[in-house]
Amino acid sequence: MNSFKLISLTIIALLFGASSLYSYNRDLEVVRYVSATVKAVGWASSELEKEVLQFDQSLTALAAHTADEDHVRLRFELLWSRVNTLLQGKENRPVREQPGVMPMLDSFARQLEGWEDRVYALRADDRAGILALRQELSHFRKLAREINVDNFSGNHIWRQLDVTENLRLHSSLYLAGLLLSGGLMLWLLVRENRRNRYLAYHDMLTGLPNRMFFYQMMNQALNRAQRDKGQLAVHMVDLNSFKAINDSLGHEVGDCLLREISVRLRDTIGADGQVARLGGDEFVVVQRLASPEDAGLMAERLSRSLSREVQLPDGCLSPQACIGTSLYPEHGTTATELLSHADTAMYYAKHSRKTMVQMFEPGMDERRLRRQKLAVALQVAIEQDQLALYFQPIYRLHNGAIESVEALLRWHSRDFGTISPLEIIAVAEQHGLAHRLNDWVLSQSCRQLHRWHQAGYDWLKVNVNISPTIFMDGALAHTVSRVLLDTGLDASTLVLEITEDTSLWDTAGSLDTLQELRKLGIQIALDDFGTGYSSFSHLRQLPLNKLKIDKSFVADLATDPKAVSLVKTIISLAESLDMKVTAEGIESPEQQAQLQSLGCELGQGYLLARPMPVEDMSDLLQQGKHQHTRIA
Ligand code: C2E
Ligand code: MG
Ligand code: MG
Repeated sequence: MNSFKLISLTIIALLFGASSLYSYNRDLEVVRYVSATVKAVGWASSELEKEVLQFDQSLTALAAHTADEDHVRLRFELLWSRVNTLLQGKENRPVREQPGVMPMLDSFARQLEGWEDRVYALRADDRAGILALRQELSHFRKLAREINVDNFSGNHIWRQLDVTENLRLHSSLYLAGLLLSGGLMLWLLVRENRRNRYLAYHDMLTGLPNRMFFYQMMNQALNRAQRDKGQLAVHMVDLNSFKAINDSLGHEVGDCLLREISVRLRDTIGADGQVARLGGDEFVVVQRLASPEDAGLMAERLSRSLSREVQLPDGCLSPQACIGTSLYPEHGTTATELLSHADTAMYYAKHSRKTMVQMFEPGMDERRLRRQKLAVALQVAIEQDQLALYFQPIYRLHNGAIESVEALLRWHSRDFGTISPLEIIAVAEQHGLAHRLNDWVLSQSCRQLHRWHQAGYDWLKVNVNISPTIFMDGALAHTVSRVLLDTGLDASTLVLEITEDTSLWDTAGSLDTLQELRKLGIQIALDDFGTGYSSFSHLRQLPLNKLKIDKSFVADLATDPKAVSLVKTIISLAESLDMKVTAEGIESPEQQAQLQSLGCELGQGYLLARPMPVEDMSDLLQQGKHQHTRIA
C-alpha cells in the first residue's frame, strides 16, 4: 500500500473512532443529566415534606412545652424559605415541571403568607390556635407526601430511571455497532488493497508471479547471491507451437495447458528457486545453484517434466518446450542482462532441430541479430520473388522409376549467401511470415507440377513440406483448396509432408485438419518418422498415406543392427496400416540394397538424385527411363 493511501486510511479510521466516541459521550452526558435531575427532583420533594413534618412537629412540641415559640418560628421560616427556593431557583425548574407541583407550591406559598401573623403570635398555651394550624397544615402535609411518594419517588421516577438506563444501554450498543462496522469497513479496505496488490504482481491464469514481480524477485535473488558469493541460473521456457494450439484447439485448451505447465515447473524447481510467467507461453525459472553443472541438469529435468503427456478435455497432448539458460555471474549481473541472454539461448534451442535445451554462449547475440536482419531480407525476397524451389525425385526402388518430387525451398541472398531452408522457415515463423511463405511454396509447387502434367508427365506427384505452425492453425485445408483451384491441379497428385511431432498433437483439432485434407483428395506423408515421439497407437488413428523414414536411420543401416530391425518394423507396421514407406537420405548402394531387401517401396537420397532446379528436373524427367538404369 502506498504511504498516501495508508495515511488517508489512518485519518479516516481516527475520525471515525473519534466521532463515535464523541457521540457516545454526548449520550452519556444526557443520561447523567437526566439522572441528576431525577435525583434533584427526588431530593427537593423529600426536603419539602421533611420541612412540613418538622414544622408540624415543632407545633406539637410547643403544645407539649418541649419546644418554645422561637423554635416554631424557625421551623416556619425554614419551611417558607424551602417553598420559596422551590418556586424561584433555576435549578429547581425540573421540580416545578413535575405534574401537580406548581399549583401545590403556589397555594402553599399563599397559605404560608396567610399564616405568618398567626405563627408569630402563637403562644404555648394557645392550644386551640396550635390545633387549628396543625389541622390546616395537615392538608399540605398530605399533598407533599403524595407528590413525594406517588409522583416523585413513585412510578414516574422509575419510568424515568428506566428510560435513562435504556438510553445508556442503547448508546453502548450503538457505539459497539459503529465500531464494529468501522472495523469491518477497514478490514474490507485492507483486504481489497491486498487483492489489488496481488493482481498487480501475479498472473491471474496460473497464479504465478508476473513480469513485474519477476524483476523484483530477481533483484532480491541477485542481491543475496552477490552478498553470499552465490550463483544463479535463469531458465527461459517457451512452449513450441503454442499459438497454433490456441488457434486450432481453442483458448480453453490453451489455458488448461498453461496451467498444467505452471504446476509442472513449480513442482520441478521446488525449493531450489522460483517460477514466473512473463506472458503468453513464456515462463522463467530462477534457480539457486550449488554448482554451475546443476543448471544444465535442471534444464533437462524441466524439459522432461514438460514433455509428459497432458490430459485435456478433448484428448491428450504431448507439449514440447524450448529452454534457454544463462548463469550469474558468468553471463551477466543484472536481471535484464540475464533474461536477455536466456532468451537468446532459448531462441537457439527453438531453431535447432537437435536440442530443446540450450545454455547461453557468448556470440549468440550476434547470431540472433543476424536472424532479425534475415527476417527483413526474407520479406523483401518473398515480395520480389527471389526465392526458388528445388526438386528432389523420389524413386520406386524396385524399378527406379520416379514416383514423385519433393519441393525444397532455396534462397540465395546477396547479403547473407545461401540460407538453409530450416533457417528460412524458422525466421519466417518467428517474424510472422510463415503463411506468406507457405502460400508461395504451395502455389509455386502446384503451378510447376501442373506444367509438368501438361508436358505429359501426368502421373507425377509433388511433395510439399508443411511447417507445424501452418498445420496447427486450422486454415490449411482452406488454403490448399484455394491453391488447387487457382492452379487447376488434380488434388490426388499433391502430397503434404508433415513432420512427426506436429501430427502427433493427438487432439481432435489435428485429426480434423487431416481429415479435411483427405476429403479434398490430398495425400499426407509423415516426414522424418522416428525422430519424434509417436506411438504406434497414434499412427493407427491418423489418416496418413505415407511414412518417410528419417535419414538418421538410413545412415545407421550399415553399422547398427538395431537400425535394421527398426526399419524392418516400421516397414511392416506401415504395410499393416496400408501406408507406403519412403526412405530418406539414401547415400550409398549398400543402403539402397538393404532397403530394397527389407521391402521399402520408395526412396530418396543423394545417391539417386540431389535436389535440383526446375530445369534440371525437367531434363531428368525427359530422360525418362534413364533412371532405371542408374539405379539398377
Ligand atoms: P525434409 O523434408 O526431410 O527434406 C529432406 C532433406 O534431406 C532436404 O534438405 C534434402 O536436401 C536432404 N537430403 C536429401 N537426400 C539426402 C541425402 O542423401 N543425405 C542427406 N544428408 N540429406 C539429404 P533440405 O533441402 O536442406 O531441407 C531441410 C528441411 O527443411 C526439410 O527436411 C524440410 O523439413 C524443410 N524444408 C525444406 N523446404 C521446405 C519448405 O518449402 N517448407 C517447409 N515448411 N519446410 C521445408
Ligand atoms: Mg520433407
Ligand atoms: Mg525428412
